[in-house]
Amino acid sequence: MRFTLATTLRGLKTDALVLGWFERQKLASHPAWAGLSLTAKQAIQKQLKRPGVSLEWGSQTVVQLPKGPWANIVVVGLGQQADWTARRNRLVTRRVMRTALTAHWAKIVFSFQDLSSEGTARAVENAVLATYEYRAYRQTPTSGWPEVKQVVLVAKHLTAEHQAAVKRGLTIATLVNHARDLANTPGGKMTPRTLAAAAVTLAKGRKLQVRVLTTVQLEKLKMGALLGVGKGSAESPRLIVMEYHGAPKTDKPIVFVGKGITFDSGGYNLKPSNSMAEMHMDMSGGAAVMSAMAALADLRLPLNAVAIIPAAENMVSGSGFRPGDILTSMSGVHIEVGNTDAEGRLVLADGLAYAEKFYHPAIVVDVATLTGAAVVALGQEAAALFTKDDALRRAGQEIGEVSGDYVWPMPFWEEYDGLVKATFGDVTNSGKSRWGGAIEGAVFLSKFVKRSPWIHLDIAPTMSSVEGQALAPGATGSGTRWLIECARRLATGQLPTTR
Ligand SMILES: [Zn+2]
Repeated sequence: MRFTLATTLRGLKTDALVLGWFERQKLASHPAWAGLSLTAKQAIQKQLKRPGVSLEWGSQTVVQLPKGPWANIVVVGLGQQADWTARRNRLVTRRVMRTALTAHWAKIVFSFQDLSSEGTARAVENAVLATYEYRAYRQTPTSGWPEVKQVVLVAKHLTAEHQAAVKRGLTIATLVNHARDLANTPGGKMTPRTLAAAAVTLAKGRKLQVRVLTTVQLEKLKMGALLGVGKGSAESPRLIVMEYHGAPKTDKPIVFVGKGITFDSGGYNLKPSNSMAEMHMDMSGGAAVMSAMAALADLRLPLNAVAIIPAAENMVSGSGFRPGDILTSMSGVHIEVGNTDAEGRLVLADGLAYAEKFYHPAIVVDVATLTGAAVVALGQEAAALFTKDDALRRAGQEIGEVSGDYVWPMPFWEEYDGLVKATFGDVTNSGKSRWGGAIEGAVFLSKFVKRSPWIHLDIAPTMSSVEGQALAPGATGSGTRWLIECARRLATGQLPTTR
C-alpha cells in the first residue's frame, strides 16, 4: 500500500473519497466542501436526510456518484466533537479501510478537517493494520485478493513532519503485521527452531545481532525451567537473543523478554479441546518483542535494546515434565510444578534471570500471553499491566493510550505473595487458590527480577482480534506498538527510569 499526502482534492481521481463530520457540524465548514461538485453536495445532503442515516459516532454511509473524479463518497459520522478521542480516530480509519476492502476499492482519499503529524502516523498505521489478512494457506481467487493500493491523505497544512510521520506509521504497522504473521502461523510450521530462524531473517539488512542458544548451551547455563517445559516435545527449546546498539555501549539497554511457547497443549495438565485451537499463538509475546526490535532499528532510535525469547513447545510425551516435578531454574530457585499448563512463567523465569545475569537493564519489560485469568478480568480490549513502581504504572498506561496497545493496571501488592507458596520447592508455578490467576503469574515472575525496574504485560486478553475492532480474525500483534513507544520514551528521557 502506497501513501501520499496532498493539500487539495483538485486533480485527484479515486474510487472513494472519505469525509467525516461531527454531529451538528455545518457541512460547509469542512475544508473539502467548497471543492465538491454541486451534484456531490446535493447527494450528500440527500443521503443525510434519509431515515436512519446520521453523523452519530460509528455511522458510515456510502454515497454513489454517477460521474466525476470519485465514484463513491464515504460519509463518516464522528459523533459529538467533545467526545472525539485518538481511540475513536483509530477505529474510524480501520472501519473505513475494511469497507474499502469489501468494496474492492483500489484507491481511497481521506480528506481531513485538520491533520497533525501524530494524526498522520496514526492514520497510516491503522490503515495498514486494518487491511492485513493472513492468507498464507489460502488459494488466490481468480479475480485476485482485494487490495487497497493507494491511500491519499489530504489536509490543508502539511509539513516535512507529516511526511516523516507517514514513514513512521508505515514502519510500525508493517512490523506489527509481521508479528501477526508469526503468531498466525500454525503450530506445526512455527516451532522453536522456525521462530529462531524468523529472528535471524528479521535481522538481515538491519542493525540487529541475533544469537540462538540450543540445548547444550541451555544446559551449560542450567536453564532447568526452559529445558523442563521443552522436554515433552520432539523440537528442542531455544533461547533467542537479539541486540540493537543505537547508543554508546555505556548506556543501559531496555530489555524485552517475550514468551515464545510455539504451541501450548497444556502438557499433562492438558487443555480442554476448545481452549487448545488458538495455542499456536502462545508465542505472541515473543513475536511482539522481535518485531519491536526491528522497529527500533528501522526508526534508528538512539538507545540500546535487547530482546530475549525463551522458546519451547509444551507437549505431552513420555519425556514430558510432570505435575509435582521440581525444576531448578537458572537463578537457582527451585520451582515446584503445580500445573504443567502454567509453563509460560517457567520459560520466562529463565529468560528474566538471563536478562539480569548478562545485562544491566535500564528497564525490563516482559510480554506474554500468560493467563486466561487476565482475559476473565479485563475482557479482550486491554492487556494487563503489572509493576510495583507507581510512576512506571502511570507511564505504562499512557504508553498504551498513545500507542494504541491499550493496557490496564492490576494490583501487585505483597499481600498476594502467598499465591506462589510451594510445599517442597522454593516457589510453585501454580498455587492452590483458584483466584487471582493473573496476579499469581506476576508474583511468580517477580521472584526472578531482582534488581531492575520492571513491567510485566499479560497480553492474553488482546492476543486475538474480536468483533468491532475492524481487524482481520486472528493475531493482533499486541504489545509491539507498546514496546516501541516505551523504547522511544526511554530514548528521549521521557520514561521515569534512566539509561
Ligand atoms: Zn499453558
